[in-house]
Amino acid sequence: MATQPPRWLSDLRNDLGAQVIRVSPRELDAYAGDAWHASAKPEAAALPRNRDEVSRILAFCNRRGIPLTTRGAGRGYVGGCVPVRGGVVLSTARMSRLVSISKVDSVAVAEPGLITAKLRKAVERKGLFYPPDPASLDESSIGGNIATNAGGPRCVKYGVTGHYVLGLHVALADGSVAEMGGRCHKNKTGFNLRDLFIGSEGMLGVIVLATLRLIPLPLARAAAMAFFQTAHDAARAVLEIQSRGILPSAMEIADRFTLEAARRESSLPTKSGNAFLLVEVDGSPSTVASDLKAVCAALNACMPASLLRAGTAAEVEKLWSIRRKFSYNLKATGLIKLNEDVVVPRGSLVKLFALAERMQRQMGISVACFGHAGDGNIHVNLMMEKKQAESDEAIRALDILFENVLRWGGALSGEHGIGLAKKRWWPQALSQETRNIHLAIKKALDPKGILNPGKFLD
Ligand SMILES: Cc1cc2nc3c(=O)[nH]c(=O)nc-3n(C[C@H](O)[C@H](O)[C@H](O)COP(=O)(O)OP(=O)(O)OC[C@H]3O[C@@H](n4cnc5c(N)ncnc54)[C@H](O)[C@@H]3O)c2cc1C
Repeated sequence: MATQPPRWLSDLRNDLGAQVIRVSPRELDAYAGDAWHASAKPEAAALPRNRDEVSRILAFCNRRGIPLTTRGAGRGYVGGCVPVRGGVVLSTARMSRLVSISKVDSVAVAEPGLITAKLRKAVERKGLFYPPDPASLDESSIGGNIATNAGGPRCVKYGVTGHYVLGLHVALADGSVAEMGGRCHKNKTGFNLRDLFIGSEGMLGVIVLATLRLIPLPLARAAAMAFFQTAHDAARAVLEIQSRGILPSAMEIADRFTLEAARRESSLPTKSGNAFLLVEVDGSPSTVASDLKAVCAALNACMPASLLRAGTAAEVEKLWSIRRKFSYNLKATGLIKLNEDVVVPRGSLVKLFALAERMQRQMGISVACFGHAGDGNIHVNLMMEKKQAESDEAIRALDILFENVLRWGGALSGEHGIGLAKKRWWPQALSQETRNIHLAIKKALDPKGILNPGKFLD
């Protein structure tokens, strides 16, 4: 028997209109999941066109105590935008304007639904640079990037999304809008409330506008791609580069399983080597030339099986196109990819790869590791059949992974967030006192608990 729609739904539709409040089964399905494997259908999908409509939807849900889960592009990896308690999914897809770019102020103002790559290309045309570059940048939104404090390959030199957020307008649970920060590159007026919303995973408010910091576009780029016999050797090369005082703009590593998947799907430039390291440098043409020389000397000292150089932006992009496909290459194996994004102090990188190898040997689980070696932030992917991925075996493996990472002073997530996927490990990750601060902030900003309920704070 079909379930009756809840009574509040017709009131919300009457208030905002059928253009904004969608209820067709096809649309509700489309707003049920993200890039992780959990999914739950909302009772309504709200597609506001502006800040005023966001406020009205929030005020309605707050009055009636209806769960509201904000959704950017739905490309998150932790089930963050999955409406596990039903209610309303508020999608920012129709609020995707790039409002302005100012060269003189070095800022861009964007609505939350803007796809990150569009911002990046638009500012580059003006000789400016927006460095945050999650590998999902062609698909994910600025609002989602801010709400997860997304990282990416360039963090090693340029930092994460939060380092580029100067100002935010946030619609709060009751529908009022708080404005913090702005176009100034420094601002110490009161508490740093802006940072409270960066990485808040849709649990404290809805970001409706962002002012973002831009920097000059580096004039030149170059890269080296080295293949090693083992991931252990590649991890050692990372430390070798760092010990020589070089600061690359990216240092990406990948292990054997990942390379095998890549070799099956696309052509890697070489058949030799079971691990790879991609190192990029950027800056002025003369610095880039000398940095590339220094990087290659460090890599050669670690005895790579092969070493390729890319001296122009076009050649560099060709190497990156290999790296950017890794997630998709692993998906093409047909296995479920339980994608963790642990981060360890850089000195523990070699230990992390050794742990992944031990887990494969001792537990018989395929593990694919790749990611942002320069930050110690590695995507440790358990590659499993669906049944296995939903079993205790997966949980046991993740228990071991997280226990070790936390013991080394690392963290559960470097960039994806906690969401639903890591809810089980949240109590281990932070002290009771620190978790209490989270709860107090949540209570103050969302007393009825309508914003993204069912995630790690519950
Ligand atoms: C192939 C692939 C590669 C990836 N590579 C990276 C990577 O290199 N680095 C990285 O950090 N991540 C990466 N990710 C993960 C993901 O793309 C990021 O987490 C991204 O920031 C999610 O953006 P989104 O717009 O898809 O957000 P969604 O998935 O829609 O939402 C993510 C979270 O943000 C909240 N949210 C969204 N918009 C708002 C808003 N306007 N206001 C308040 N809360 C909001 C949601 O409630 C949810 O909790 C990758 C994902 C894929 C599929």
